[in-house]
Amino acid sequence: MVLKDNHGRAINYLRLAVTDRCNLRCFYCMPEEGIDWLSRKDLMTYEEMMRACSLLVKMGIQKIRITGGEPFVRKDIMSLLEGLAGLQGLDELTVTTNGVVTAPLVPDLKKLGIKSVNLSLDTLDRNRFFAITHRDELPAVMETMDQLLRHGIEVKINAVVMEGKNIGDIIPLVELTKDLPVSVRFIEEMPFNGGDKHYTNLTWDHVQILKTIKDRFPAIEKIKDPAYSTSYNYNIPGHKGSVGIIAAYTRSFCGTCNRIRITPQGILKTCLYDAGVFNVKDLMRQSCNDEELAASFLIALGKRTKDGWEAEQQRNLLTGTHESMAAIGG
Ligand code: SAM
Ligand code: SF4
Repeated sequence: MVLKDNHGRAINYLRLAVTDRCNLRCFYCMPEEGIDWLSRKDLMTYEEMMRACSLLVKMGIQKIRITGGEPFVRKDIMSLLEGLAGLQGLDELTVTTNGVVTAPLVPDLKKLGIKSVNLSLDTLDRNRFFAITHRDELPAVMETMDQLLRHGIEVKINAVVMEGKNIGDIIPLVELTKDLPVSVRFIEEMPFNGGDKHYTNLTWDHVQILKTIKDRFPAIEKIKDPAYSTSYNYNIPGHKGSVGIIAAYTRSFCGTCNRIRITPQGILKTCLYDAGVFNVKDLMRQSCNDEELAASFLIALGKRTKDGWEAEQQRNLLTGTHESMAAIGG
């Protein structure tokens, strides 16, 4: 079954955020003191997540990414992953993690058939890692990367590019691709930091990031982007890995956007920049049946905004206080 939105875009990818809690405090995601954490009763239970996912897979979702907050700080997360891995019709199950407590779980991820993991890593320098995340956890993250590669799991590194924080890390991160078969993806910083800092233009956009890489590696060449890719992908001749740039703030990929999100409290977002369409968990707790739930998903997809700019305009994001990415599910 093919699920489509009102603009004719196929919708086959769900990003499910399982918690808003985290063991890091990345500067661009949440304040050092954290955010107002959701209470347990406001979180979707694993049973509710399984019900929503199994229905969405029947409706046409083929890929699910588990994210958060940090997914591996939620108790018994492996049982949810196990359940999802067994869903008939789901082609791909993936995870985005900061890698702090992930290394010992890598063999189990491999057993579940997880083929690719996104690992967030903004710097290879321990002091700067501390300055960005407020925690001294770089060795644990590097251990996770090592374990993933040893187990033959594809590693995509997500690095948010931040003026004044890690510009000097762009080239060292690109250099990682020389000997390691990793894809290093640089992400434009988005205004989802859980505080009131916001901006109307971005110095380090995808053009500036690519220019910086090209100045150092003039032989860099464009490679084909996979279907629905949000990154522009490149290879440097002789390097084992690849480099990607995600124009997350510029939003140049909305025309082919195939994804929806469910936040930790169960809010369906049909665009990262929207305010949420309806609460899946609340509907389930009001005893709706699967037909009614499916109908609500279809209604939501039938009024999806054209792009992130329209969604943001509707939400008037630029004048409000910004959510944390951990509460949305990055
Ligand atoms: N805790 C996990 C992690 O960090 O990988 C998963 C959740 S995190 C919110 C998912 C992704 O969102 C991370 O790669 C992170 O770098 C990215 N992210 C968070 N806040 C962001 C922001 N303000 N702009 C761009 N990317 C952001
Ligand atoms: Fe935590 Fe991920 Fe947000 Fe960093 S980006 S604070 S690791 S949820």
